[in-house]
Amino acid sequence: MTSPRDAGLKLLREHALIAGNPVTGASRIAVDDPATGDVIGHVPDLGAAETERAITAAADAFPDWSRSDPHARAQILRDWAALVDENTDGLAALMALENGKPFAEAKGEVAYANGFLKWFAGEAERLLGETQDSPLGHLILTFRQAVGPCALITPWNFPAAMLTRKLGPAFAAGCTAVVKPASQTPFTAIALAELADRAGLPKGVLNVVTGDAATIGGVLTASPLIRKLSFTGSTPVGRKLAEQCAPTLKRVSMELGGAAPLIVFTDADLEHAAEETVKGKFRNAGQTCVCPNRVYVEALVAAEYARVLAEKVAALTVGGAFEDGVKVGPLIEDKALDKVEAHLAALKKDGAKVLTGGGRHERGGRFFQPTVTLGGDDALFREEETFGPLVPVFPFESEDEVVAKANDSPFGLASYLFTRDLDRAMRIGRRIEAGMCGVNTGLISTPVAPFGGVKQSGYGREGSVHGIDEYVDVKAVTLALK
Ligand code: ADP
Repeated sequence: MTSPRDAGLKLLREHALIAGNPVTGASRIAVDDPATGDVIGHVPDLGAAETERAITAAADAFPDWSRSDPHARAQILRDWAALVDENTDGLAALMALENGKPFAEAKGEVAYANGFLKWFAGEAERLLGETQDSPLGHLILTFRQAVGPCALITPWNFPAAMLTRKLGPAFAAGCTAVVKPASQTPFTAIALAELADRAGLPKGVLNVVTGDAATIGGVLTASPLIRKLSFTGSTPVGRKLAEQCAPTLKRVSMELGGAAPLIVFTDADLEHAAEETVKGKFRNAGQTCVCPNRVYVEALVAAEYARVLAEKVAALTVGGAFEDGVKVGPLIEDKALDKVEAHLAALKKDGAKVLTGGGRHERGGRFFQPTVTLGGDDALFREEETFGPLVPVFPFESEDEVVAKANDSPFGLASYLFTRDLDRAMRIGRRIEAGMCGVNTGLISTPVAPFGGVKQSGYGREGSVHGIDEYVDVKAVTLALK
């Protein structure tokens, strides 16, 4: 029997993809396994010329694809999804190898990622328009039409799901795409593209370029042929890309950083709240933009909640993706550990107590101990996301105080609330400045829920009935009827 690891390596391709053709280059980028630092393969280091070729391929494929029968596009999405299901172990292993997340968790991501292909296959069949009588005596018909060739730039933390969350609606709408995956995790994107090709996606509809992000991003954003950019990544890069898109007035969707507050009231089920905090925080070793970044607990129960949480966190097994029972993998790169360390040092300096963990893991490399602290100053955690396995718990006194703190942040992506008081949940759910609020749950991501932020967490919504809106323009055709 092939091991999952071997199934993953079988899907590993060391080339980019332009107009359906594999593209290699003289210069290459090494991709490593974060658990060991060993190189697992290389991708070509492509530049401006290849990016222009990919844009041309997407533009050439656009007229036929955008005018194709949406039911045929839905069928291709479904066939692609079936191949993804069939290759779950291989894709999950590839992701585990390049990203470091535990294999079981990577399988969960494949299912989540595939949910977007399945959901948006249905959306292709529901590209509804409207009719309206005009006060001028005309009949107005609206059509929702594909925006055009899209540039999709994705991060390393969810190498499959961040891509299908964009490609699902793009293809459903009839858009073509040039994808630039993160250099740390390009193989999942290339493997997904190969499966799309096998599912019958016409050549040129999906192109994948690998290489220097700033060069490729510069060409994609400057091109008048690219009509839309969808980006998931950090706020500074998002800001820069939005600026670069301004001269050509591209449509832009930005899914950027967060600094999610998680609030626990005295009336909450503390055991459940702690359990859900662990689920929300330790997915991908704390490296998600919706991970709780700062936990506020009503003072009366703060010590008790923190104790229960620390107990659960101490029980998490740290290790490599393919080891038994592993719940927390390594961080993506060395500088990620520096940031967690700096955040922990700041907490300690402000008088926080370390309840469990407290530094780099004894395994060395990129492993960090799952850590819980109590007390200290929350200011840094409103401004910066830790993106690692550290949960700082801060006691609070009143509802107004905690809502003010939750909102006193440049970010507004996810938020979480634990209470049995429905009035309070609705009150705060509405007052909180965030695109998403989980009440009594730490898991809010599904293909059917709108995902996105407010303030400097970006704009636009992915998934749900709203996701396709990012990839369509509304066209009005006015009929003068006699
Ligand atoms: P992270 O901190 O998660 O790595 P980044 O914003 O740096 O977030 O990266 C997200 C994606 O954006 C990756 O695909 C990365 O290669 C890409 N990227 C980084 N810098 C630029 C840039 N200047 N132009 C275009 N893409 C970029």
